[in-house]
Amino acid sequence: MPPERRYVIRAGTGYDSHRIDSGGRMLLGGVEVAKGMHLVAHSDGDAIAHALTDAILGAAAAGDIGEMFPDTDPANRDGNSMDMLVAAVARVRQRGFVIVNADVTVITERPKLSPHRDAIRASLAAALQVDPEAVSVKGKSNEGMGWIGRGEGLACMAVATIASDISTGAD
Ligand code: MG
Repeated sequence: MPPERRYVIRAGTGYDSHRIDSGGRMLLGGVEVAKGMHLVAHSDGDAIAHALTDAILGAAAAGDIGEMFPDTDPANRDGNSMDMLVAAVARVRQRGFVIVNADVTVITERPKLSPHRDAIRASLAAALQVDPEAVSVKGKSNEGMGWIGRGEGLACMAVATIASDISTGAD
């Protein structure tokens, strides 16, 4: 019988929101999901990348996106948020963890995310170094209520789990 494997499993959550304005293009999960509107931000405004970055950092208790990439640092202006996610994955892996899965919910009235779902899953999976089957992306409207309902902005929630193999003799 093969030796029993033992893992530490941790979960983390992330949240992000950005104002929507006209012009430009909207990026979510590194994928262009709309033209003629954009997310207002110091960086490229990619709310999926931001929420997921916080989720994996949270799972590892390894800080947060604001500490890793301060918006007071000119180097982060117009930053590529998928690069930030990749850097956070590297930090988590340095601490002995791999990403297991991620589940993302975007709450917005527009644009519809379903046509872009699989492209976003593939993009996130590459950054997280997991199979696309381990990444879920869901879109929800806010039923017309409040600031999201009026289309003033969108919000994103993310959950991620990470694991470290602590079996005797591992690494
Ligand atoms: Mg953000």
